[in-house]
Amino acid sequence: MTDDFVLRDFSRDHHALALNTATLGHNVEGQGAGWSSEQVIDACAERGFGAIAWWRREIGDRAFEIGERVRAAGLEVCGLCRSPFLVGPLAPPSRQKILDDFKASIDMAEALGASCLTIVVGGVIENSHSQRDSLSHVAQLVADMAPYAQKAGVKLALEPLNPVYGGNRSCLVTVRDAVDLCNRIDHPIVAIAVDVYHVWWDLQLGASLLDAGAERIAGYHLCDWLADTTDVLLDRGMMGDGVADLKHLRSQVEATGYDGYCEVEIFSANNWWKRDPAEILDVCVERFRTVC
Ligand code: ZN
Repeated sequence: MTDDFVLRDFSRDHHALALNTATLGHNVEGQGAGWSSEQVIDACAERGFGAIAWWRREIGDRAFEIGERVRAAGLEVCGLCRSPFLVGPLAPPSRQKILDDFKASIDMAEALGASCLTIVVGGVIENSHSQRDSLSHVAQLVADMAPYAQKAGVKLALEPLNPVYGGNRSCLVTVRDAVDLCNRIDHPIVAIAVDVYHVWWDLQLGASLLDAGAERIAGYHLCDWLADTTDVLLDRGMMGDGVADLKHLRSQVEATGYDGYCEVEIFSANNWWKRDPAEILDVCVERFRTVC
């Protein structure tokens, strides 16, 4: 941490706030209130959000149009979720299919004008019993795809997930391992995404992030870990409702020099997704200004 480090003050200015549309249920078919992309853009612009991160399923073949619409409203597209799983039981069935879908996700991010594409790497390769081998496969696939992403001007953001997902969704479970993976791939377009839900428990986080440096941090995602989590996938908390030390976590991210967006990403099937999106966005702004 540098001596002149000062945590950004969002109490009166929330331009650094970004919405990940999963917060409105848009990552899962049939969830949320079903707002159109235009409604989401207008509502975020009205409330002074700085950026929006989208999910592929809501973009379809309208990537360019939606990206232009976001910028016309004065916002940026800070991300697209996400690449296919690259390894493990949920990955497409062949290397070619993985690469094809990986390319399609990069193409969509480029058309949207998104600054980064989130990569959730997938779980341990079936019958391998080896997290280490699985991560080596991931490193190879990402290295193979990095030049394509560089041409498209899209950063690849490796997102380590909470270890509860290690089996099926992400054999990459700590920021330390994500930084090591970046170093191993050693390509300027490959970075990491830091998500409160996945890292709040990690007491080595600050040191790992300083090793990464700001150029290697492509995003910072906000939510909270509920003390009585009922579903590790779809019961994330609103900032301030859980146990994560949000200001301390952000201070560790910003101590690297990171000055990018803070993106609210809340999967909450039985609480927030049942509410009016206007209310959800209002609460996001209020909590961002007060507890993040
Ligand atoms: Zn995230």
